[in-house]
Amino acid sequence: MLNIALFGPPGAGKGTQSKFLIEKYNLHYISTGDILRKELAEESSLGLKAKSIIEAGGLVSDEIIVQIIEKTITDNPHAGGFLFDGFPRTYIQAYILEGLMIKLNTKLDCLISLEVGEEESVHRLLERGKTSGRSDDNEEVIRNRLKEYKEKTLPVLNFFKERGIYRSINGVDSILNVSGKIEEIINEELSKKLLNIVLFGYPGSGRGSQGKALAEKFNLEYIATGDMLNDEIKKNSPIGKEIKELYENGNLVSDEIVVRLIEKKLQESGNVRGFIFKGFPRTLVQSYILDGLMKKHNSSIAKIVEIEVPTLDLIKRLDARSKTDRCMPYDTSTTRIIKRLKEHEDKTIPVIEKYNKLHGVVKIDGRGSFNEVFERTAAVVEHSFRDIR
Ligand code: AMP
Repeated sequence: MLNIALFGPPGAGKGTQSKFLIEKYNLHYISTGDILRKELAEESSLGLKAKSIIEAGGLVSDEIIVQIIEKTITDNPHAGGFLFDGFPRTYIQAYILEGLMIKLNTKLDCLISLEVGEEESVHRLLERGKTSGRSDDNEEVIRNRLKEYKEKTLPVLNFFKERGIYRSINGVDSILNVSGKIEEIINEELSKKLLNIVLFGYPGSGRGSQGKALAEKFNLEYIATGDMLNDEIKKNSPIGKEIKELYENGNLVSDEIVVRLIEKKLQESGNVRGFIFKGFPRTLVQSYILDGLMKKHNSSIAKIVEIEVPTLDLIKRLDARSKTDRCMPYDTSTTRIIKRLKEHEDKTIPVIEKYNKLHGVVKIDGRGSFNEVFERTAAVVEHSFRDIR
């Protein structure tokens, strides 16, 4: 998700710039002023409550604002992100915004302030007043709106400065130049966003080969705990020896080992576009670990994918694999294969169910050739990239 707030005095150009931003970045636009004017035109009880305040150029109560913001956000659960115009306008509203973002498991990426001096604002609003039909675009009310801005809204900037997400732009420039500067800031924010994907599926479902190919195609870092553990076995490191023994008994490796290896990998991968996790999280405990790791790296899971293959096909595939050089230490006998499948069913299926309730899991038909399945998995990743934009 990409969430941006446009800040600035009345007449700074927030509305004008919003039009281009919502299209370019596919954002849901929330202008509290527009919503209030609509309520007013419809003469709803909320509109009537706000009428005299708006007409005098004052600020509508935070109580009313929180209601309209919450409603708009909950009415648009599939929005790829929000663009806030004219909100937050008070310190309380800044807290409200933070709370709402937490509720959506996201955050405000940045607040872009369009700097425009008072006389320029008045001049622009008087010009706009000639055609806008807005009762608050006359000099007396404009002066009051600017007074409210200075007294109640400007101090809000400190809130965002403290959080390190305040950016400012000189708003006295051509529309096109201001758009260009906003675009630069947003693109910078986007490049910081990681696309993290968790790939689920039974052993033999093709998670590994799909995961690797996806990582290559989309320039993601592939984190496969199984491969990382195998590397340790190959190195014959002390951890490797421990792992080998656990594998041979068909058991899972301790979380402590896995977490240490993942942490190392996350830290070592420099400039990547995101991560693709395969074989992790395997247990509910590990799913909490992943949440913690994501938070620590100031990121989150963008998409959870499960590749579905009927059990009989899985057994056939694993049995065939055991006869090739791609044979894993855990698929050397039927007993071990069955143990692995059961382990997945007992420990990992509850994780998928948890994620399904929380964020939704995209199910992919894993039958057919590698390329057929890859077309399906790649389409999901492609889509996820569009979603975080
Ligand atoms: P705008 O279209 O953003 O200039 O808003 C027009 C008027 O609506 C303002 O002068 C306020 O009276 C009211 N308003 C809009 N947004 C808010 C807000 N976030 N908090 C309080 N009042 C608001």
